[in-house]
Amino acid sequence: MESHPPANQAIAEQVQSTQFVDTHEHLLEESQRLHGLSYGAPLFTCDDWAYLFVHYALDDLTVAGMPITEAGRFTSPDVSAREKWTLFAPYWPNIRQTGYGRAVLLSIRKLFGEDELSAESVERITDHLRKGVQKGYYYHILHDVAGVESCQVNSLDRTFRVTEYPDLLFQDLSTIPLGSEVNLDTLRRETGLPISDLQGAYQAIDWYFEQYGQQAIATKNQSAYARRLNYAQVTAEEAAPLFERLARGYEINANELKAIQDHLFRYTVSRATAYGLPVKLHTGYYAGTGSMPLERVSRNLQDLCPLLQDFPNTTFVLMHITYPYQDELIALAKHYANVYVDLCWAWIVNPVATVRFVKEFLAAVPANKLLTFGGDYTAVENVVGHAELARHGLIQALSELVVEGWLSEHEAVSLVEPLMRGNAYATFHITEKAALSASLTKPTQ
Ligand SMILES: [Zn+2]
Repeated sequence: MESHPPANQAIAEQVQSTQFVDTHEHLLEESQRLHGLSYGAPLFTCDDWAYLFVHYALDDLTVAGMPITEAGRFTSPDVSAREKWTLFAPYWPNIRQTGYGRAVLLSIRKLFGEDELSAESVERITDHLRKGVQKGYYYHILHDVAGVESCQVNSLDRTFRVTEYPDLLFQDLSTIPLGSEVNLDTLRRETGLPISDLQGAYQAIDWYFEQYGQQAIATKNQSAYARRLNYAQVTAEEAAPLFERLARGYEINANELKAIQDHLFRYTVSRATAYGLPVKLHTGYYAGTGSMPLERVSRNLQDLCPLLQDFPNTTFVLMHITYPYQDELIALAKHYANVYVDLCWAWIVNPVATVRFVKEFLAAVPANKLLTFGGDYTAVENVVGHAELARHGLIQALSELVVEGWLSEHEAVSLVEPLMRGNAYATFHITEKAALSASLTKPTQ
């Protein structure tokens, strides 16, 4: 993307020449892509050009009117690239300007040299896409094309993914099965522990932190998709008998399950804090279509306040600008020293709102609290377009602050490095984690 007035040249040059530390992705392992569709990786439903639309842009196609049966054919491995074009073409003019659509188009332009999608170009793109999947291509796409130094990956098919590239793909430890869903089958299978009472649940949670706490970059939890974030204080005496009933397979009601989740989630927060791990939480908008309970989403931030106060030494990273409640997030980050804000996903959910958010955030909140990029994709190719959108937005936000007299050019340029990478280094202790990763990748004697 070109920078247009009022883009400030010095700001633009600084942003273009600085690598992002990418604080949130769901990238498949490179080996999963090399194995192909038979590997059964999450959201890897086809390996033609439509794959680039599966993770998020398909939502916009659906909302634009693509029937569910056509969406199924569009993402199928058994439909030709050309036929997919005829399914896609009626809806593309309506989504090409959204963040989801634009990020894919920018990725295609930069990676495959095709300016536009057409009946002809989708076949060439498919060819390029398949040929590009080679050993080492993750490093090339992320470093050389997207301008991303390292990513933080929340695996969608593992509680913790032991990655083949620990210095490129730092990993989150998911606390979904541990403390919000309390998925006993997963916990028992992965830990090998019987987990018959509350002490057993603590032991299982401890096991994950002992195994992975040092390597992990953070904990990650997206329970906001399934429940409110009002994780109340529930004592061990209250939780123990409820948990025993759950562990024995007896029915428990929704309030009882919530009490167990509340208690164990808070236990995971205390373990994360002991291991120096920031606690990443999904807040705001939902991926998908047709299922977002806005009342629950609207309460995300007010629901979190007791937790923020009860864990003053925990670093909470609140994701996705809590869109569309981003004004409240600015207030929260300004008020609570332990709240950090991550723009991950936000640049494609609503890029213009995110420009506005960055401006208002910087005018109100200490600048070290802001992390400015996370692609939030399973397909590595799409990180390219998202990173380009993010750079465009960052240049615009900082340039406008200069034009409008809120910042000097020098002040704005000085903010670029911390916003794009320095804040992430400080928040996630990346220098120490990188040294540990290097020691893990050393060949054993
Ligand atoms: Zn995500």
